[in-house]
Amino acid sequence: MNILVTNDDGIHADGLRALKSALDEIGRVYVVAPDRPRSACGHSITLHKPLRADPVKLPDGSTGYASNGTPSDCVSLALLGLVEEGVDLIVAGINCGPNLGWDLTYSGTVSAAMEGAIMDVPSFSISVAAYEPNVDYSVAAAFAARLAVILQQHRLPPSTLLNVNVPALPQSQIKGVRITRQGKRRYTGALEKRTDPSGRAYYWLGGDLPVDQLEEGTDVKAIADHYISVTPIHLDLTDHAAMAEMLAWGIQEIDVASL
Ligand code: MN
Repeated sequence: MNILVTNDDGIHADGLRALKSALDEIGRVYVVAPDRPRSACGHSITLHKPLRADPVKLPDGSTGYASNGTPSDCVSLALLGLVEEGVDLIVAGINCGPNLGWDLTYSGTVSAAMEGAIMDVPSFSISVAAYEPNVDYSVAAAFAARLAVILQQHRLPPSTLLNVNVPALPQSQIKGVRITRQGKRRYTGALEKRTDPSGRAYYWLGGDLPVDQLEEGTDVKAIADHYISVTPIHLDLTDHAAMAEMLAWGIQEIDVASL
């Protein structure tokens, strides 16, 4: 099995190293990853400047490719020719920090797996729900290897990827694994206004930790309860229930000739 590993924390991130080392046990691992941290870049792609993919020596002695592009670019680069042997599975991570609920729309890690699903390659993203820089990736890395083997035996449905989150806890405190749905988390107090030395205002996005809505069956609840969360994510973002309701709103009856 040829496995592409990428991330959004950059090719030198500890989480990528731990992931590669675990996946080396079950397949041939190719690393194509951003040359710098790209967290929260979402699914952006590079269209208006040259994309680079430079060979770099990884700490284990193998060679990876560091790209000036985004995580999604890295997947495209790998699938469109950089990995000549072909890619059977894409694993993005291990991200430092959770990717839960509405984080998914911002996440470069999850977007890399989305790009894989678009290209019809089985893909998952994996994150440790840590807010501290010194993270133990060992449980997440071992879990990624186990999941990779399962995905060899069971084909994901079309246009579906998996988003995995692992509690930032010692193995003995993790209670198990849950298949979940995407939950909700809201960022509050996210805008901080400051003044620069010349007197002009500037702003920091970020602020407080998100507020999780702990609904049963969700990824945020599983992590809060100390379970590993595995969420199947579909590329179809349509709200099908809303479609039916909106038929009665007269939108389709707007006469284009009257505009
Ligand atoms: Mn990240």
